[in-house]
Amino acid sequence: MITIAIANQKGGVGKTTTAINIATAMAATGWKTLLIDLDPQGNASTGLGVAGADREYTSYDLLLDQGTLTECAQPTDIPGLDIVPATQDLSGAEVELVSVDDRTARLRKALDTQGYDVCFIDCPPSLGLLTLNALCAADSLLVPLQCEFFALEGLSQLLQTVERVQQGFNSDLGIIGVVLTMFDRRNRLTDQVADDVRDCLGKLVFENVIPRNVRLSEAPSHGMPALVYDHNCSGSRAYIGLARELIGRLPQKRKAA
Ligand code: ADP
Ligand code: MG
Repeated sequence: MITIAIANQKGGVGKTTTAINIATAMAATGWKTLLIDLDPQGNASTGLGVAGADREYTSYDLLLDQGTLTECAQPTDIPGLDIVPATQDLSGAEVELVSVDDRTARLRKALDTQGYDVCFIDCPPSLGLLTLNALCAADSLLVPLQCEFFALEGLSQLLQTVERVQQGFNSDLGIIGVVLTMFDRRNRLTDQVADDVRDCLGKLVFENVIPRNVRLSEAPSHGMPALVYDHNCSGSRAYIGLARELIGRLPQKRKAA
């Protein structure tokens, strides 16, 4: 199984939208896919149509050793895509984890049981213990970056955290790529920032950019990925292209289970 954390400590940059749609695209391509909602806001769970009442076992249980992966993962309406949902309880985990052993390796241990080809982790907008658990469990980090003025500054803080994780906890962690989100080609600042990001990060930046597209923002309120809500909109097409590009960057060790 390949585990990919989707992280950026900034909120509203497209982490959850990317997690939902890329996981859906991978499942549609035949990859047995797991999405772990690691944000107490539970947006990925809601966006995939998991009602609050159906979140009996959650990522909180997984982290606090109160449930196995088999218990906590549940099927979604998308064939081949399972989710470990999140609830508000998860905000307490950040505090509760401080006093337990191996507090950064909880998720890594819980993921030991396999059966999936790929696992995505939708991280909260912070660099706290939840995101640290995701980075310690992951083989790769995927960073959604919104093309706005302070984008690169936030990124350097994230990269410092990655370095700390590589040195202290998880030397296997690599960065699989940076995806530019909410791209608006009519906006000159967007273009300028995109050029700066490509100058600075080179090939790390995915060629596929995700355009600003209202269908992507409408889909979650219908409890479905944009790829199902309107599979032909510009946003869906961009995520299909991104999934293809991502698969091309993955090592071929897929069927580990
Ligand atoms: P994060 O998980 O980083 O906080 P979200 O994926 O939840 O970010 O996106 C923040 C908001 O922007 C949401 O309302 C989402 O629907 C919307 N959004 C995300 N990506 C796009 C896009 N490419 N075009 C238009 N709206 C988007
Ligand atoms: Mg989110």
